[in-house]
Amino acid sequence: MEFLPDFDVKRPLTIVEAVAMAAMKNTCFLAGGTDLMPNLRRGVGNPKTLVDLSAIAEMTEINETDSGLCIGGGVTLQQLIANPQIQRDFNVVMEAAETIAGTTHRYTATVGGNLCLDTRCQYYNQSEWWRSANDYCLKHKGNICHVAPKGNICRAAFSGDLAPAMLIHEAQVELISTEGRRVVNLDDMYQEDGANSLTLKQGELLASVTLSKLDGYQTAYKKMRVRGGVDFPLAGVAMAVRGSEDNLEDMRIALTGTNSRPIRLEGTDALKGKPLDEAGLKALGKLVFAQVMPMRSTFTPAAYRRKVAINMVRRLALNLLCQAYSKR
Ligand SMILES: Cc1cc2nc3c(=O)[nH]c(=O)nc-3n(C[C@H](O)[C@H](O)[C@H](O)COP(=O)(O)OP(=O)(O)OC[C@H]3O[C@@H](n4cnc5c(N)ncnc54)[C@H](O)[C@@H]3O)c2cc1C
Ligand code: SF4
Repeated sequence: MEFLPDFDVKRPLTIVEAVAMAAMKNTCFLAGGTDLMPNLRRGVGNPKTLVDLSAIAEMTEINETDSGLCIGGGVTLQQLIANPQIQRDFNVVMEAAETIAGTTHRYTATVGGNLCLDTRCQYYNQSEWWRSANDYCLKHKGNICHVAPKGNICRAAFSGDLAPAMLIHEAQVELISTEGRRVVNLDDMYQEDGANSLTLKQGELLASVTLSKLDGYQTAYKKMRVRGGVDFPLAGVAMAVRGSEDNLEDMRIALTGTNSRPIRLEGTDALKGKPLDEAGLKALGKLVFAQVMPMRSTFTPAAYRRKVAINMVRRLALNLLCQAYSKR
Protein backbone atom coordinates (compact mmCIF):
# COMPACT_ATOMS: atom_id res chain seq x y z
CA MET A 1 0.00 0.00 0.00
CA GLU A 2 1.41 3.34 -0.96
CA PHE A 3 0.37 6.64 0.57
CA LEU A 4 0.29 10.17 -0.82
CA PRO A 5 3.22 12.29 0.38
CA ASP A 6 2.56 15.45 2.39
CA PHE A 7 1.92 18.62 0.36
CA ASP A 8 0.01 21.90 0.61
CA VAL A 9 -2.89 22.65 -1.75
CA LYS A 10 -3.63 26.21 -2.88
CA ARG A 11 -6.88 27.09 -4.65
CA PRO A 12 -6.61 30.32 -6.67
CA LEU A 13 -9.67 31.94 -8.26
CA THR A 14 -7.84 33.63 -11.16
CA ILE A 15 -5.07 32.82 -13.62
CA VAL A 16 -2.97 35.70 -12.27
CA GLU A 17 -3.11 34.25 -8.76
CA ALA A 18 -2.41 30.73 -10.04
CA VAL A 19 0.78 31.61 -11.92
CA ALA A 20 2.07 33.67 -8.98
CA MET A 21 1.57 30.67 -6.67
CA ALA A 22 3.21 28.26 -9.13
CA ALA A 23 6.31 30.36 -9.78
CA MET A 24 8.15 28.75 -6.86
CA LYS A 25 10.20 25.55 -7.19
CA ASN A 26 8.62 22.25 -6.06
CA THR A 27 5.18 23.46 -7.09
CA CYS A 28 2.95 22.02 -9.77
CA PHE A 29 -0.56 22.47 -11.16
CA LEU A 30 -3.34 20.11 -10.22
CA ALA A 31 -6.21 19.96 -12.74
CA GLY A 32 -8.46 16.86 -12.71
CA GLY A 33 -5.67 14.95 -10.94
CA THR A 34 -6.41 11.75 -12.88
CA ASP A 35 -2.77 11.35 -13.92
CA LEU A 36 -0.98 13.44 -11.30
CA MET A 37 -2.48 11.82 -8.20
CA PRO A 38 -1.73 8.17 -9.14
CA ASN A 39 1.83 9.28 -9.97
CA LEU A 40 2.29 11.05 -6.63
CA ARG A 41 0.97 8.02 -4.80
CA ARG A 42 3.70 5.98 -6.48
CA GLY A 43 6.36 8.45 -5.45
CA VAL A 44 6.78 9.72 -9.01
CA GLY A 45 7.44 13.39 -8.23
CA ASN A 46 7.37 14.97 -4.79
CA PRO A 47 6.02 18.54 -5.05
CA LYS A 48 5.64 20.53 -1.82
CA THR A 49 2.69 22.57 -3.16
CA LEU A 50 -0.11 21.79 -5.59
CA VAL A 51 -1.94 24.68 -7.23
CA ASP A 52 -5.47 23.42 -7.80
CA LEU A 53 -6.95 24.98 -10.97
CA SER A 54 -10.52 23.78 -10.50
CA ALA A 55 -11.94 27.08 -9.13
CA ILE A 56 -10.69 29.26 -12.00
CA ALA A 57 -13.87 30.09 -13.93
CA GLU A 58 -12.04 31.89 -16.78
CA MET A 59 -10.37 28.58 -17.76
CA THR A 60 -13.63 26.72 -18.27
CA GLU A 61 -15.04 28.59 -21.26
CA ILE A 62 -15.42 27.45 -24.88
CA ASN A 63 -15.77 30.42 -27.25
CA GLU A 64 -16.11 30.72 -31.02
CA THR A 65 -13.41 32.75 -32.81
CA ASP A 66 -13.33 34.11 -36.38
CA SER A 67 -11.73 30.94 -37.71
CA GLY A 68 -12.47 28.30 -35.09
CA LEU A 69 -12.82 27.68 -31.39
CA CYS A 70 -10.97 28.70 -28.22
CA ILE A 71 -11.12 26.07 -25.45
CA GLY A 72 -10.13 26.85 -21.86
CA GLY A 73 -7.45 24.62 -20.31
CA GLY A 74 -9.85 23.79 -17.46
CA VAL A 75 -12.63 22.46 -19.71
CA THR A 76 -13.28 18.83 -18.82
CA LEU A 77 -13.15 16.09 -21.44
CA GLN A 78 -16.86 15.42 -20.89
CA GLN A 79 -17.71 19.09 -21.55
CA LEU A 80 -15.59 18.93 -24.70
CA ILE A 81 -17.38 15.82 -25.95
CA ALA A 82 -20.82 17.33 -25.24
CA ASN A 83 -20.08 20.69 -26.90
CA PRO A 84 -22.19 21.20 -30.10
CA GLN A 85 -19.43 23.14 -31.94
CA ILE A 86 -16.89 20.40 -31.21
CA GLN A 87 -19.37 17.80 -32.46
CA ARG A 88 -20.07 19.81 -35.63
CA ASP A 89 -16.66 21.15 -36.68
CA PHE A 90 -14.02 19.20 -34.72
CA ASN A 91 -15.17 15.61 -34.98
CA VAL A 92 -11.59 14.28 -34.71
CA VAL A 93 -11.13 16.03 -31.34
CA MET A 94 -14.41 14.61 -30.04
CA GLU A 95 -13.44 11.09 -31.17
CA ALA A 96 -10.05 11.37 -29.45
CA ALA A 97 -11.60 12.68 -26.20
CA GLU A 98 -14.10 9.82 -26.15
CA THR A 99 -11.26 7.29 -26.04
CA ILE A 100 -9.45 8.84 -23.05
CA ALA A 101 -9.41 6.83 -19.81
CA GLY A 102 -12.82 5.76 -18.41
CA THR A 103 -16.18 7.54 -18.30
CA THR A 104 -15.81 8.76 -14.72
CA HIS A 105 -12.27 10.08 -15.35
CA ARG A 106 -13.58 12.22 -18.21
CA TYR A 107 -15.89 14.16 -15.88
CA THR A 108 -12.85 15.56 -13.99
CA ALA A 109 -9.94 15.17 -16.45
CA THR A 110 -9.22 18.40 -18.33
CA VAL A 111 -7.97 19.53 -21.71
CA GLY A 112 -4.93 21.24 -20.10
CA GLY A 113 -4.05 18.14 -18.09
CA ASN A 114 -4.27 15.97 -21.17
CA LEU A 115 -2.09 18.23 -23.33
CA CYS A 116 0.46 18.56 -20.48
CA LEU A 117 0.47 14.84 -19.67
CA ASP A 118 3.77 13.41 -18.48
CA THR A 119 5.35 10.70 -20.66
CA ARG A 120 5.04 7.05 -19.58
CA CYS A 121 7.38 4.08 -19.33
CA GLN A 122 7.09 0.58 -17.90
CA TYR A 123 10.29 1.19 -15.89
CA TYR A 124 9.07 4.51 -14.47
CA ASN A 125 5.32 4.29 -13.80
CA GLN A 126 5.95 1.76 -11.04
CA SER A 127 6.05 1.79 -7.25
CA GLU A 128 8.94 3.39 -5.38
CA TRP A 129 9.88 -0.10 -4.16
CA TRP A 130 10.00 -1.45 -7.74
CA ARG A 131 12.00 1.50 -9.09
CA SER A 132 14.50 1.50 -6.21
CA ALA A 133 15.06 -2.25 -6.70
CA ASN A 134 16.07 -1.44 -10.30
CA ASP A 135 18.35 1.40 -9.18
CA TYR A 136 15.92 3.96 -10.69
CA CYS A 137 16.57 5.31 -14.21
CA LEU A 138 17.67 8.44 -16.11
CA LYS A 139 14.29 10.12 -15.77
CA HIS A 140 14.49 10.20 -11.97
CA LYS A 141 17.38 9.62 -9.56
CA GLY A 142 19.20 7.01 -11.74
CA ASN A 143 22.11 6.96 -14.20
CA ILE A 144 20.91 4.56 -16.85
CA CYS A 145 17.97 4.14 -19.20
CA HIS A 146 16.68 0.54 -19.00
CA VAL A 147 14.99 0.93 -22.40
CA ALA A 148 18.08 2.17 -24.30
CA PRO A 149 21.04 1.54 -21.95
CA LYS A 150 23.60 3.02 -24.37
CA GLY A 151 21.66 6.25 -24.81
CA ASN A 152 21.72 9.38 -22.72
CA ILE A 153 18.13 10.50 -23.29
CA CYS A 154 14.87 9.21 -21.82
CA ARG A 155 12.64 7.45 -24.38
CA ALA A 156 9.40 7.34 -22.37
CA ALA A 157 6.35 7.64 -24.64
CA PHE A 158 3.92 10.55 -24.84
CA SER A 159 0.46 8.96 -24.72
CA GLY A 160 -2.03 11.83 -24.64
CA ASP A 161 -4.87 11.35 -27.13
CA LEU A 162 -5.98 14.96 -27.63
CA ALA A 163 -2.69 16.37 -28.94
CA PRO A 164 -2.63 14.61 -32.34
CA ALA A 165 -6.29 15.46 -32.96
CA MET A 166 -5.64 19.11 -32.14
CA LEU A 167 -2.44 19.21 -34.24
CA ILE A 168 -4.61 18.37 -37.26
CA HIS A 169 -6.51 21.60 -36.54
CA GLU A 170 -3.35 23.77 -36.35
CA ALA A 171 -3.79 24.22 -32.58
CA GLN A 172 -2.18 27.16 -30.83
CA VAL A 173 -1.80 27.29 -27.05
CA GLU A 174 -1.95 30.36 -24.82
CA LEU A 175 0.70 30.04 -22.10
CA ILE A 176 0.79 32.36 -19.09
CA SER A 177 3.43 32.77 -16.39
CA THR A 178 4.63 35.56 -14.11
CA GLU A 179 6.85 36.63 -17.04
CA GLY A 180 3.82 37.27 -19.27
CA ARG A 181 1.68 35.69 -21.96
CA ARG A 182 2.82 33.91 -25.11
CA VAL A 183 0.97 32.06 -27.86
CA VAL A 184 2.80 29.16 -29.55
CA ASN A 185 1.92 26.36 -31.94
CA LEU A 186 0.93 23.27 -29.96
CA ASP A 187 3.62 21.43 -31.94
CA ASP A 188 6.28 23.67 -30.36
CA MET A 189 5.11 22.88 -26.82
CA TYR A 190 6.69 19.43 -27.14
CA GLN A 191 10.21 18.09 -27.62
CA GLU A 192 11.65 14.60 -28.17
CA ASP A 193 12.91 14.03 -24.61
CA GLY A 194 10.91 11.69 -22.40
CA ALA A 195 12.22 13.24 -19.17
CA ASN A 196 11.39 16.75 -20.29
CA SER A 197 8.87 16.50 -23.09
CA LEU A 198 7.16 19.87 -22.47
CA THR A 199 8.88 23.12 -23.33
CA LEU A 200 6.96 24.94 -20.57
CA LYS A 201 8.84 26.98 -17.97
CA GLN A 202 8.40 26.44 -14.22
CA GLY A 203 4.92 27.68 -13.30
CA GLU A 204 3.77 28.29 -16.86
CA LEU A 205 0.05 27.62 -17.28
CA LEU A 206 -1.79 26.39 -20.37
CA ALA A 207 -4.70 28.83 -20.21
CA SER A 208 -6.41 27.88 -23.49
CA VAL A 209 -6.03 26.19 -26.85
CA THR A 210 -7.37 27.58 -30.13
CA LEU A 211 -8.32 25.33 -33.05
CA SER A 212 -8.85 26.31 -36.70
CA LYS A 213 -11.73 24.85 -38.68
CA LEU A 214 -11.05 22.59 -41.66
CA ASP A 215 -13.36 22.87 -44.67
CA GLY A 216 -14.00 19.95 -47.01
CA TYR A 217 -11.94 17.37 -45.10
CA GLN A 218 -12.92 13.96 -43.76
CA THR A 219 -11.41 13.47 -40.29
CA ALA A 220 -11.11 10.67 -37.76
CA TYR A 221 -9.14 9.45 -34.73
CA LYS A 222 -8.29 5.79 -34.16
CA LYS A 223 -6.21 4.18 -31.44
CA MET A 224 -5.06 0.72 -30.51
CA ARG A 225 -4.83 -0.27 -26.86
CA VAL A 226 -4.51 -3.45 -24.90
CA ARG A 227 -7.76 -3.01 -22.93
CA GLY A 228 -10.55 -1.58 -25.11
CA GLY A 229 -12.53 -0.07 -22.21
CA VAL A 230 -9.84 2.04 -20.55
CA ASP A 231 -6.25 2.33 -21.67
CA PHE A 232 -3.53 4.57 -23.03
CA PRO A 233 -2.83 4.21 -26.77
CA LEU A 234 -0.07 1.86 -27.85
CA ALA A 235 -0.45 3.95 -30.99
CA GLY A 236 -3.03 6.61 -31.89
CA VAL A 237 -3.61 8.28 -35.27
CA ALA A 238 -5.50 11.47 -36.09
CA MET A 239 -6.12 12.18 -39.77
CA ALA A 240 -7.74 14.68 -42.11
CA VAL A 241 -8.01 13.98 -45.84
CA ARG A 242 -9.47 15.83 -48.81
CA GLY A 243 -10.06 14.38 -52.28
CA SER A 244 -10.70 10.82 -53.40
CA GLU A 245 -8.86 7.50 -53.78
CA ASP A 246 -8.13 8.54 -57.40
CA ASN A 247 -6.86 11.99 -56.53
CA LEU A 248 -5.61 12.78 -53.05
CA GLU A 249 -5.85 16.56 -52.65
CA ASP A 250 -4.48 16.93 -49.14
CA MET A 251 -3.66 14.83 -46.11
CA ARG A 252 -2.76 15.70 -42.52
CA ILE A 253 -1.66 13.01 -40.08
CA ALA A 254 -0.51 13.14 -36.45
CA LEU A 255 0.40 10.29 -34.13
CA THR A 256 0.70 9.63 -30.41
CA GLY A 257 1.96 6.77 -28.24
CA THR A 258 5.03 6.04 -30.35
CA ASN A 259 7.53 8.81 -29.56
CA SER A 260 8.35 11.03 -26.57
CA ARG A 261 6.17 13.71 -28.15
CA PRO A 262 3.12 13.71 -30.41
CA ILE A 263 4.31 13.90 -34.03
CA ARG A 264 2.94 15.41 -37.22
CA LEU A 265 3.81 13.13 -40.10
CA GLU A 266 6.01 14.94 -42.59
CA GLY A 267 6.33 14.27 -46.32
CA THR A 268 2.66 13.66 -47.22
CA ASP A 269 2.78 16.55 -49.73
CA ALA A 270 4.58 14.18 -52.13
CA LEU A 271 1.40 12.06 -52.29
CA LYS A 272 -0.85 14.95 -53.28
CA GLY A 273 -2.44 15.06 -56.75
CA LYS A 274 -2.02 11.29 -57.19
CA PRO A 275 -4.21 8.23 -56.58
CA LEU A 276 -3.79 6.58 -53.21
CA ASP A 277 -3.23 3.18 -54.87
CA GLU A 278 -0.87 0.39 -53.82
CA ALA A 279 2.20 2.51 -54.58
CA GLY A 280 0.73 5.46 -52.66
CA LEU A 281 -0.08 3.31 -49.64
CA LYS A 282 3.43 1.83 -49.72
CA ALA A 283 4.94 5.32 -49.77
CA LEU A 284 2.68 6.36 -46.88
CA GLY A 285 3.77 3.31 -44.88
CA LYS A 286 7.42 4.23 -45.48
CA LEU A 287 6.85 7.73 -44.10
CA VAL A 288 5.32 6.30 -40.93
CA PHE A 289 8.09 3.69 -40.59
CA ALA A 290 10.76 6.39 -40.80
CA GLN A 291 9.18 8.83 -38.36
CA VAL A 292 7.63 6.78 -35.55
CA MET A 293 10.11 5.58 -32.95
CA PRO A 294 8.44 3.15 -30.55
CA MET A 295 10.84 1.85 -27.89
CA ARG A 296 10.64 -0.85 -25.19
CA SER A 297 8.82 1.63 -22.93
CA THR A 298 5.57 -0.37 -22.81
CA PHE A 299 4.78 -4.05 -22.35
CA THR A 300 3.76 -4.22 -26.01
CA PRO A 301 6.84 -4.86 -28.20
CA ALA A 302 8.20 -1.84 -30.08
CA ALA A 303 8.24 -3.56 -33.49
CA TYR A 304 4.57 -4.48 -33.10
CA ARG A 305 3.63 -0.88 -32.19
CA ARG A 306 5.38 0.35 -35.31
CA LYS A 307 3.46 -2.16 -37.49
CA VAL A 308 0.21 -1.14 -35.81
CA ALA A 309 0.92 2.55 -36.53
CA ILE A 310 1.66 1.84 -40.21
CA ASN A 311 -1.45 -0.30 -40.70
CA MET A 312 -3.73 2.11 -38.84
CA VAL A 313 -2.55 5.03 -40.98
CA ARG A 314 -3.08 3.14 -44.26
CA ARG A 315 -6.46 1.76 -43.23
CA LEU A 316 -7.74 5.09 -41.93
CA ALA A 317 -6.66 6.89 -45.12
CA LEU A 318 -8.59 4.42 -47.30
CA ASN A 319 -11.66 4.50 -45.04
CA LEU A 320 -11.81 8.29 -45.04
CA LEU A 321 -11.36 8.56 -48.80
CA CYS A 322 -14.12 5.96 -49.34
CA GLN A 323 -16.42 7.98 -47.05
CA ALA A 324 -15.66 11.08 -49.13
CA TYR A 325 -16.58 9.12 -52.28
CA SER A 326 -19.87 7.82 -50.85
CA LYS A 327 -20.90 11.34 -49.80
CA ARG A 328 -20.63 12.69 -53.38
C1 LIG B 1 -6.80 4.24 -15.69
C2 LIG B 1 -6.36 5.43 -16.48
C3 LIG B 1 -6.44 5.40 -17.85
C4 LIG B 1 -6.03 6.50 -18.60
N1 LIG B 1 -6.14 6.43 -19.96
C5 LIG B 1 -5.77 7.51 -20.71
C6 LIG B 1 -5.91 7.48 -22.13
O1 LIG B 1 -6.41 6.51 -22.71
N2 LIG B 1 -5.47 8.54 -22.84
C7 LIG B 1 -4.95 9.65 -22.25
O2 LIG B 1 -4.59 10.60 -22.95
N3 LIG B 1 -4.82 9.73 -20.90
C8 LIG B 1 -5.23 8.69 -20.12
N4 LIG B 1 -5.11 8.75 -18.75
C9 LIG B 1 -4.45 9.90 -18.13
C10 LIG B 1 -5.37 11.04 -17.69
O3 LIG B 1 -6.57 10.56 -17.12
C11 LIG B 1 -5.74 11.99 -18.83
O4 LIG B 1 -4.63 12.25 -19.64
C12 LIG B 1 -6.34 13.30 -18.36
O5 LIG B 1 -6.79 14.06 -19.45
C13 LIG B 1 -5.35 14.16 -17.57
O6 LIG B 1 -6.02 15.37 -17.23
P1 LIG B 1 -6.13 15.88 -15.73
O7 LIG B 1 -6.91 17.14 -15.76
O8 LIG B 1 -6.63 14.82 -14.83
O9 LIG B 1 -4.60 16.19 -15.44
P2 LIG B 1 -3.77 16.15 -14.07
O10 LIG B 1 -3.56 14.73 -13.68
O11 LIG B 1 -4.35 17.07 -13.05
O12 LIG B 1 -2.40 16.79 -14.58
C14 LIG B 1 -1.57 16.15 -15.52
C15 LIG B 1 -0.30 16.99 -15.70
O13 LIG B 1 -0.59 18.21 -16.37
C16 LIG B 1 -0.20 19.36 -15.59
N5 LIG B 1 -1.26 20.36 -15.85
C17 LIG B 1 -2.59 20.18 -15.68
N6 LIG B 1 -3.26 21.25 -16.14
C18 LIG B 1 -2.34 22.14 -16.59
C19 LIG B 1 -2.42 23.42 -17.20
N7 LIG B 1 -3.59 24.02 -17.45
N8 LIG B 1 -1.26 24.05 -17.53
C20 LIG B 1 -0.06 23.46 -17.30
N9 LIG B 1 0.08 22.23 -16.75
C21 LIG B 1 -1.05 21.57 -16.41
C22 LIG B 1 -0.16 18.84 -14.16
O14 LIG B 1 0.73 19.61 -13.37
C23 LIG B 1 0.34 17.42 -14.38
O15 LIG B 1 1.73 17.42 -14.56
C24 LIG B 1 -5.53 7.66 -17.96
C25 LIG B 1 -5.45 7.69 -16.56
C26 LIG B 1 -5.87 6.60 -15.82
C27 LIG B 1 -5.81 6.66 -14.32
S1 SF4 C 1 12.79 5.45 -21.17
FE1 SF4 C 1 14.57 4.97 -19.88
S2 SF4 C 1 15.02 6.83 -18.72
FE2 SF4 C 1 12.96 7.04 -19.61
S3 SF4 C 1 11.58 6.37 -18.00
FE3 SF4 C 1 12.01 4.58 -19.28
S4 SF4 C 1 13.79 3.56 -18.37
FE4 SF4 C 1 13.62 5.62 -17.48
